Amino acid sequence: MKSFRKELWFETQQRRAYVNITPQVEETLKASGIKEGLILVNAMHITASVFINDDESGLHVDFEKWLEKLAPEKPHSQYAHNGNEDNADAHLKRQIMGREVVAAITGGKLDLGPWEQIFYGEYDGIRRKRVLIKIIGE
Ligand code: ZN
Repeated sequence: MKSFRKELWFETQQRRAYVNITPQVEETLKASGIKEGLILVNAMHITASVFINDDESGLHVDFEKWLEKLAPEKPHSQYAHNGNEDNADAHLKRQIMGREVVAAITGGKLDLGPWEQIFYGEYDGIRRKRVLIKIIGE
């Protein structure tokens, strides 16, 4: 069995952002040479997510509205976690949007459904953060 590891770095220009990282994941898979196996893609930070959904801008607006209803950013003072920090909402948003995705690799390609795209979800951005890709197979 082969394994391959790579980190992707991001620094979003806004506090919250959704970045379609499917092309970088596909490039990493190609570089690994692995044709059959599994690929794990996870955020390495507790205020960011990796998830699979549709690359449709209206849906991303809906994510923003929905997450702000569940865990509004402000007032910062509403959260016990916020004292020296102001990112309690980002921890909660990440929790519901998930830490990682696992996808099948078949014939050297990501074996995704027709509309499935892999996203980096940022909830406390404007700083450098990482995503880990680990691929196992042969
Ligand atoms: Zn925090």
